[in-house]
Amino acid sequence: MVESARARIVVSTENAEETIALGERLGALLGVGDVVALTGDLGAGKTTLVKGIAAGMGITADICSPTFTLIREHSGEVPLYHVDLYRLSGIVEVDTIGVEEYIYGSGVTIIEWADRMQSLLPAERLDVELRIEGETRRRIVLTTRSPRLRAAIEGLGRDADTGD
Ligand code: ADP
Ligand code: MG
Repeated sequence: MVESARARIVVSTENAEETIALGERLGALLGVGDVVALTGDLGAGKTTLVKGIAAGMGITADICSPTFTLIREHSGEVPLYHVDLYRLSGIVEVDTIGVEEYIYGSGVTIIEWADRMQSLLPAERLDVELRIEGETRRRIVLTTRSPRLRAAIEGLGRDADTGD
């Protein structure tokens, strides 16, 4: 089997508003069945990015970190499933919350702390890694092997395939 090429885009944002704006542009490009896997430390801006993505999908509901539920569903023309695995105690629990049902469902699924269910993530996904570089500066790396998502993220930032 030929593995499709990986696309990698790097964006730096200088404040939360810029991260929201990036999310909005990304959200407008996402569609049914897309899975976005977010990683990065606490406070890196994962939930902030989800806010932008929701706005870009035309969803006006308040996006916050699901506290007691691991998954929040927001209805829209295309529904958004917001998963946050921060409070997850182990991979066994992931199995029991039925994330797969969402991932293979009829909306966009965004997973915070996606590394906690790494082995269960679909191969066709968009990985977004957020890194704190300063008080309000974040380095955001988007990676995908999906041809469809690769086309979608082109133009969001600089192509970092050749350098870093
Ligand atoms: P996470 O979900 O990764 O734990 P949050 O999005 O909840 O992170 O929190 C990020 C915090 O950092 C927010 O208080 C936000 O206002 C702040 N912040 C500062 N600069 C940025 C930036 N460039 N991008 C995103 N958030 C930022
Ligand atoms: Mg969060």
